Amino acid sequence: MTKDTKYIFVTGGVVSSLGKGIISASIGKLLQSRGFSITIQKLDPYINVDPGTLNPYEHGECYVTEDGAETDLDLGHYERFLNIYTSQANNVTTGKIYLNVIEKERRGDYLGETVQVIPHITDEIKYRIRLLEFSGDYDFIITEIGGTVGDIESLPFIEAVRQLRLELGKRSLVMHMTLLPYLANIGELKTKPTQHSVKNLQELGVQPDILICRTSVPINDSIRQKLALFCNVEQRAVIENIDIDTIYKVPIKMQEEKLDEVILDKFGISSTSQTNLSKWIELINHIDNPKNEVDVALIGKYIELKDAYKSIIESFIHAGAYLETKVNLDFISSENITEGNLDNLLNKYNAILVAPGFGERGLEGKILAAKYARENKIPFLGICLGMQMAVVEFARNVLHLKDANSREINPRTLNPVIDLMENQKKISVKGGTMRLGAYPCKIVKNSKLYECYKQDLVYERHRHRYEFNNKYLEIFESHGMKAVGINPTEQLVEAMELEDHPFFIGVQFHPEYKSRFESPHPLFVSLVRAALEKKNNIIQ
Ligand code: GLN
Repeated sequence: MTKDTKYIFVTGGVVSSLGKGIISASIGKLLQSRGFSITIQKLDPYINVDPGTLNPYEHGECYVTEDGAETDLDLGHYERFLNIYTSQANNVTTGKIYLNVIEKERRGDYLGETVQVIPHITDEIKYRIRLLEFSGDYDFIITEIGGTVGDIESLPFIEAVRQLRLELGKRSLVMHMTLLPYLANIGELKTKPTQHSVKNLQELGVQPDILICRTSVPINDSIRQKLALFCNVEQRAVIENIDIDTIYKVPIKMQEEKLDEVILDKFGISSTSQTNLSKWIELINHIDNPKNEVDVALIGKYIELKDAYKSIIESFIHAGAYLETKVNLDFISSENITEGNLDNLLNKYNAILVAPGFGERGLEGKILAAKYARENKIPFLGICLGMQMAVVEFARNVLHLKDANSREINPRTLNPVIDLMENQKKISVKGGTMRLGAYPCKIVKNSKLYECYKQDLVYERHRHRYEFNNKYLEIFESHGMKAVGINPTEQLVEAMELEDHPFFIGVQFHPEYKSRFESPHPLFVSLVRAALEKKNNIIQ
């Protein structure tokens, strides 16, 4: 350990979904822009070992890290704000903690002791929290505790924070995030739920140092005074977190509230460095004053649930900000698409993205959308299942392999153009067994994909079991659909594109996991650029 690493614990109260992840990422951003090195971790109190086995309806998108961890979507925010890589160590669930403790017990590591929540489970939590410190790489570790104070499931995590505060002393602080409800009929912001929530935390032995108050209207001095008095925090540490049109403005708002100064001061750090957010602010100005606008259709089956496609949505925001273009992203349910309404539904769009996914629901709609984009020369990006369905469409309608399918959907098809990967055939356990994380992809020169990346070799993240079936490669290529990205060690097809089309690319990997606000992903930038060209052509 080389650094005197400081810990910031972020807890939540009153209601869930207040945006603790965005606040954690924003604080990280402010401290990072002063020159500190930061990492952020998320502790999730549910019993699944990781969110990889969770349906998106339960917990939104499953985010995948470079090292192949299937994680909570908040890790996506951390990476997008800070332009860092998180890892297996950055997301810990109750399931993971218990699994480890029980495995140790079975091995006999506890030498006859009774294994209990305190100290064994709390020790394991503390060990997981401090694991990131051992690398010596970080000035600050921000630890976000999922759930809401008062939940039965969060108790061991709060207890671990209580113990750690004692062990770490001045090296730690606690930020508690709550909601101030606004009662429109009397025009008042109410502080009572926050008071109760802080009391709850205090009963568990944890006194917050900073309060982050989510609110729909500005909070005045008298509210700040009242909260400070009742919650036992300094008045300058009562921070307003007002609803805002884009999450990327939150760091700026937090800076206006002097949150970074309060944090440094509480740690006794006299930093002379100033936050440098000039690039960030320039991109926000692009969002506020776009020069162009494009309409993009996202074809998926979770359209009522925007969190299921979080990273894709954010990637469009990044590309749009970079290109000073407002991307109007419409969600279209693949289940509602039919041959009859296809043109009506899709003709207004300047680009079409077919989303990743699993299972049969809505697949024929995805195939129709790919066909429409191919035939009408609409810029198209298919991601993972989206690429697989573009391949199936091409096989059926161009190669006339009428029953072509993915073996995931029809195990008995005579033309499995998408097939189970060889090393997946023996796998029956579901958790953590897909092809996960970053793999190299060699890019064929003289391709559209190469024009996007301008690189021969890239590393992109994966989460799938099926792949393009190389037995069909020759016939696809001779008819104009080319493999333009190849895994150099296993010869897996990672990207396909159409020759005779302005922009039609399918990728087996997930580019959306690597797009960042200050460094948008080249595939999304190129897709939005192609959409702009398509729009300008129509106008001309
Ligand atoms: N279900 C497909 C597979 O497992 C695609 C997965 C995805 O879109 N992430 O290969």
